[in-house]
Amino acid sequence: MKEFPGLVDSHLHLLSMERKGLDPQGALEDFFACGGLWALDVAVDTLEWDRRVAWAEAEPRLWLSAGIHPSEAASEQNWHELENQVSHPRCLAVGEMGLDWYRGRETEARQRDLFRRQLSLAQAHRLPVIIHNREADRELVEDLDAVQWRDPGIQHCFSSDKTFARQALDRGFWLSFAGNVTYPSAQTLREVAAWAPLDRILVETDSPYLAPQPVRGKPNQPKNAGLTARVLADLRGLPLLEFLEVIRQNFERLVGLPRPSAIGRG
Ligand SMILES: [Zn+2]
Repeated sequence: MKEFPGLVDSHLHLLSMERKGLDPQGALEDFFACGGLWALDVAVDTLEWDRRVAWAEAEPRLWLSAGIHPSEAASEQNWHELENQVSHPRCLAVGEMGLDWYRGRETEARQRDLFRRQLSLAQAHRLPVIIHNREADRELVEDLDAVQWRDPGIQHCFSSDKTFARQALDRGFWLSFAGNVTYPSAQTLREVAAWAPLDRILVETDSPYLAPQPVRGKPNQPKNAGLTARVLADLRGLPLLEFLEVIRQNFERLVGLPRPSAIGRG
């Protein structure tokens, strides 16, 4: 019996893992060996797309998103690249995109323009979005409402309160919990995770960032999604295997997996 059968890591960054000295393919092998079923490699910019595609084409259980992180400045050429990338058959979401006031709000106008453009791009392609939100609850809701967003999406590394959780759920979002939900100081976040509708939550690592409590401080890797899932299963009062099954179904419903090309492989 594998340790985490059916485990899904809905948010990781293979290129960033490599930059931190991890072997992306080895880390994925460890993830699948412990029971991992699906992994989603999330973009922060449009660079090195061909390499990401090569990884996904070598591993049918690995999928891609295409998008531009709010901390990245995007040229018109980057935008053109993004428009091509979202049409790729291995791309199943747009992001990560969003708003980030952590380092200040000098770039607010640029961030919000890029965010709304990506929301519209996702709507045009009927793809779910992956949202990065740092200290920007109010403006995120404004921008989602500006484009009348009601499609599926992921609030990645959910770290806000119940009020924002309710607003996000009402607008079609799933809440994705990362390693920070396991930190001793994260009591309020655990309350949100215990309260949120069970059919609207996901688990992610955000590898190589945010390693969960037992391995905190180390570069994170996809198999650690199992450690976060265990904490969440306890919070929800569910056996781990049952919880993993719920998370798998949540993810598959959100992104439309398995697809005909992947059936029989995963
Ligand atoms: Zn991320």
